[in-house]
Amino acid sequence: MAALAAVKAAKTAITVPMETKYLPSIASKTVINDDKALKTSKEIKTPTVDRSTKPSLLTSNGLLLRDIILPTKLMHNFLTLAFSNTTSNKETCGILAGRLERNKLMVTHLLIPEQTGTPDSCTTHNEEDIFDYQDQHNLITLGWIHTHPTQTAFLSSVDLHTHCAYQLMMAEAIAIVCAPKYDETGFFILTPDYGLDFIANCRETGFHPHPTEPPLYTKARHYKLDVMALQVVDLRRK
Ligand SMILES: [Zn+2]
Ligand SMILES: [Zn+2]
Repeated sequence: MAALAAVKAAKTAITVPMETKYLPSIASKTVINDDKALKTSKEIKTPTVDRSTKPSLLTSNGLLLRDIILPTKLMHNFLTLAFSNTTSNKETCGILAGRLERNKLMVTHLLIPEQTGTPDSCTTHNEEDIFDYQDQHNLITLGWIHTHPTQTAFLSSVDLHTHCAYQLMMAEAIAIVCAPKYDETGFFILTPDYGLDFIANCRETGFHPHPTEPPLYTKARHYKLDVMALQVVDLRRK
């Protein structure tokens, strides 16, 4: 029987991509105090569309990050379903999922897990619902999106730790922050050559200060917006 189980396990390991099996939790449970933006809101305004002149970021292995393609309507759709939370000053979060197509990472689904939001955090529940959905639809995890109801678009220390789990799993994983009060959207990643390792080795939890230089995170430059279909799957139990 043990041998059969091992064969079964091996089979599962082969047929199910690792990424679909593991979902980092969105936020730590402890909230000590809020650390303010690492940069001023001016510095982290939405990047301009033309990024062609800037050098591309490399992974820690020196590999070029593959493009991640986001549906243009993603942010608007997310803000619409987050609206009632946002007006009650509660964060909302969602998982970006999709597939690899011709060496591009296509975000095709926005999954909204069962969650509890506060003014500066969002904690997911019943994550197995998300795993199941991704398994059934063969979707890999490509990042996450969350609102800052009253703050600017930046990654807090808790956000950095949340994103670290995504980026360790998928080098191209992106963190999108929607700050409707400031009409800002941030598309971020941990700096592959420094921030990723730093945060992976930081043992603190809750909101806590990090050194700001060299930068732990940066604007993503490997994403593109495209007019494409987006499936929104709201798994919140009403
Ligand atoms: Zn945040
Ligand atoms: Zn830390």
